[in-house]
Amino acid sequence: MTTETHEEAKFEFQAEVRQLLDIVINSLYTDKEIFVRELVSNASDALEKLRHVQLTEREIFDDGLGLDINITTDDTAKTITISDYGIGLTRDEMIENLGTIAHSGTKKFLHSLEDGDAARGNVIGKFGVGFYSAFMVAKQVRVYSHSWREDGEHLCWTSDGRSGFEITDAPGQRRGTKIVVELTEEYEEFSKKERVKRLLERYSNYVSFPIFLNGERINTVEAIWLKQKSEVTDEQYTEFYKFASKMYDEPRYRLHFNADVPLEIHSLLFVPKDNQEKFGFGRMEPGVALYCRKVLIDENPEKLLPEWLRFVRGVIDSSDIPLNISRETMQDSALLQKINSVITKRFLKFLDKQAKDDPDGYEEFFKEFGRYLKEGTASDYGYRDQLPKLLRFESSMTEAGKLTSLADYLARKKEEQKDIYYLSGPSRDAIENGPYLEAFRARGIEVLFCTDGADEYVINALYQFEEHSFTSADRADLSLDDLPAEEVPQEEALAEEDSKALCAWIKEQLGDRVEEVAVGKRLVQSPAVAFNSDAHMTSHMRQMMRAMEQDVSKLKVKLEINPRHALVKNLATARESRPEIAGMIANQILDNALFSAGLLEENKDMVQRAYDIMARAIE
Ligand code: ADP
Ligand code: MG
Repeated sequence: MTTETHEEAKFEFQAEVRQLLDIVINSLYTDKEIFVRELVSNASDALEKLRHVQLTEREIFDDGLGLDINITTDDTAKTITISDYGIGLTRDEMIENLGTIAHSGTKKFLHSLEDGDAARGNVIGKFGVGFYSAFMVAKQVRVYSHSWREDGEHLCWTSDGRSGFEITDAPGQRRGTKIVVELTEEYEEFSKKERVKRLLERYSNYVSFPIFLNGERINTVEAIWLKQKSEVTDEQYTEFYKFASKMYDEPRYRLHFNADVPLEIHSLLFVPKDNQEKFGFGRMEPGVALYCRKVLIDENPEKLLPEWLRFVRGVIDSSDIPLNISRETMQDSALLQKINSVITKRFLKFLDKQAKDDPDGYEEFFKEFGRYLKEGTASDYGYRDQLPKLLRFESSMTEAGKLTSLADYLARKKEEQKDIYYLSGPSRDAIENGPYLEAFRARGIEVLFCTDGADEYVINALYQFEEHSFTSADRADLSLDDLPAEEVPQEEALAEEDSKALCAWIKEQLGDRVEEVAVGKRLVQSPAVAFNSDAHMTSHMRQMMRAMEQDVSKLKVKLEINPRHALVKNLATARESRPEIAGMIANQILDNALFSAGLLEENKDMVQRAYDIMARAIE
């Protein structure tokens, strides 16, 4: 132990520190309480570092002290004191670490200030200005310390957070650091035990070292992700989920997963019961925290999991992450990408198993969170083996509200059927009552119902599933087989020549309104059906164009008529006997067909014409 004494030494803060302190102290930021979290996490860091030092060094000052964090409040002296038996600080380290800005979080903070004053408030919380946050509430901060090094000094660093600090000798220090925060009158509340206790419970329950507040043990939540599954009860899992994710529901799924290769990973993931984005609370923050051996690296790391897994909550712990890694370097590290893909694959495999073991439960999950899997399918090509299998759709062969997988669709399809058919619409009802389904229903061909706006994007992005292309059932150029004999309506059809003549006449009546009029193969019940002539222009795409304010009125339409339908047959006669009303009816048939296909752009004429026809009918 050194007995050498030093002169009192005064130092100026580095200019950047002064700038930072000025902002921290004068900021209107209301969340002053985070200073407790920052100092506790520094204490925890110091203990963690000591643990590492203990692995490699034989000579350690004050060896044998417990790795605890002790916090005391004194509401007479108006102080809060945070002490740890961690690595401590040497004189040089005090000057360097408490007097200059070298670390990333604070640098980032300073950069962000260039974006203007408005940003000030929340950035403090986001980056954590660490140690300096104590000056938000302090008249004076004293840092007593002795380094773990046997030849360290007994020191006290003192500052009021304005211009500089001084370092004096302070004999009798234990190993580690004791930080005494002398509170300003305004923030005396932090010298009250109850106030601090609530804070610790909120922010520091994860800290893996025992925290004592005025002698009382505070943190009790264990890092259960590091345990064996058999050692953890359901209640413990649920309790952990609620605490860790700040959620109030019961988790829907949980995946506790440990691996040694290719990386050492301990992860505990949860899927909540409810999808929060559904309630319109805005986009969820990533909810899986990154730890390295129980020490928090980042609470909401952006790239730890793909964005479309942002509904997953929990913890990933990997001892392969260097402990002192900064958030900045973390974001782009190859290691993070590796963890990302290992966990994502594992999680999707887990979902697949759930879908097999408990299809109903999975269906419930999909109704709540399927959107994210669709987002992943449409945006992320990396999981094409796994994601499409997990998708679910309603279809013409499911009961309302029930879903089918693509694999089950293929298992049911007609032997000679190549494509997977789908129809988009605002609801199951709308699709079932629309003009396009009947042809498929009559032929026993299943059609997927895309009732979610995202569905068609997903299908377009997928393009194929197990080498079967997706085809929209409203395409004009579909060639469907003839109806099976039992489905052919009894009514006799118009003779072929008469049909042709009728088509030509209708085309004449409708002029530019249609590109083509033809006898339709598909029709069973309806007199007519309208299509976009452009085979690739599905009705959904047309709606999208309309939403983007593109002119869709010029898109060409094809009309198919049903030669068995009474209206069509009568029209064939009426066009000669009563040409005037026959012409009106031809136009009305087109408008009706456009309307039921969602293609009608203008309904003024349609309504007026309907009145005219009614007036004549009642004469
Ligand atoms: P960060 O924790 O992000 O490094 P801080 O501002 O919180 O930034 O702390 C600055 C530095 O001060 C730390 O990196 C560490 O070197 C030193 N320090 C702070 N508190 C302690 C402590 N309790 N024991 C040892 N060193 C500490
Ligand atoms: Mg810190």
